[in-house]
Amino acid sequence: MSAPRPQPGILEITPYVGGASKVAGVENVIKLSSNENPSGPSPRAVEALKASAAELHRYPSTDHASLRQALGAHHGLDPARIFCGVGSDEVLMLLCQAYAGPGDEVIYSEYGFSLYPICALSVGAVPVAAKETERTVDVDQILSKVTSRTKIVFVANPNNPTGTMIGDEAIARLIAGLPEDVLIVLDGAYAEFVDGFDGGASFVEKHANVVMTRTFSKLYGLGGLRVGWGYGSADIIGVLNRIRQPFNLSAPALAAAEAALGDTEWVAETLAENVRLRTWLADALDKVGVPSDPSHANFILARFKDAAEAAACDAFLRQHGLIVRPMGSYNLNHTLRITIGTEDACIRVAETVATFKAQGA
Ligand SMILES: *Cc1c(COP(=O)(O)O)cnc(C)c1O
Repeated sequence: MSAPRPQPGILEITPYVGGASKVAGVENVIKLSSNENPSGPSPRAVEALKASAAELHRYPSTDHASLRQALGAHHGLDPARIFCGVGSDEVLMLLCQAYAGPGDEVIYSEYGFSLYPICALSVGAVPVAAKETERTVDVDQILSKVTSRTKIVFVANPNNPTGTMIGDEAIARLIAGLPEDVLIVLDGAYAEFVDGFDGGASFVEKHANVVMTRTFSKLYGLGGLRVGWGYGSADIIGVLNRIRQPFNLSAPALAAAEAALGDTEWVAETLAENVRLRTWLADALDKVGVPSDPSHANFILARFKDAAEAAACDAFLRQHGLIVRPMGSYNLNHTLRITIGTEDACIRVAETVATFKAQGA
């Protein structure tokens, strides 16, 4: 008996698992497992979404012109070279689909976002992990993995789940060390959390092989709507536009994202709270013997003595209605990634971890 067989690589994929949102038998849980904005979406985005309901019988725009114009104006970028996707996940997937195939290699850093190897395998390419140093992207390690089969290098900056980032000098060295026909994807899902950081846009302007990806899912609190975007050369954007679905983004999603982008006051408040509570939580955990690297994003990666202690603390937090993200799938099973929640949530996390540590001591 023969049966349909999928393309090579696909069955090697371990499907992505999102952050948990429920604990059996525990009510009123606080979800700190998916780096979502604790203040919810911008009220302006909600209004725009509601207003779009009356027009649901209409197809959305195929060219996303209005959102691209708004993004271009907001970030000082050329709207013609902005590409909108169903979350930045779609942009990452399409880049792999367009620029890698069977036998090719796709490099990512060992604690890089877990979607990168999934994208690579889905097109039959081989994901190649480069070691990090002190949980930070190591340019030399990436360059040491380059072969004639390398097609794409993914770098999340700041990185998820480590929260660390590398500077412009390191990025420049990475670009200079790679052949010009290797595509470099700078994933800026958390770029907005870094004051004054352009997410790598200036490198896109200078190098035809650099693409930046961004999202409305993290700072803008629109993970449920699925809006992301990319910025690259006219050639690369033209390629992506050829292979995407013509109506990839829904009209409500486009409208809400544009409204959220304009709510600069709400964004400023959210950012200030994130910095304040991130510092507070990292200090509070450090004091009870749970250190973390300085984070540049909206989460911290808390380190425990070993995998057993991290797992026990995770279970303890769950019993107390706090869901964080265990990191076993990233080979970081002595850590827990904790999204910066509301002030109440941060206090509860700090108190609960302190109680856990006191019991174990
Ligand atoms: C969350 C995240 C994304 C994807 O976000 P979308 O919701 O698909 O826009 C991409 N890269 C990193 C590093 C992330 O953490």
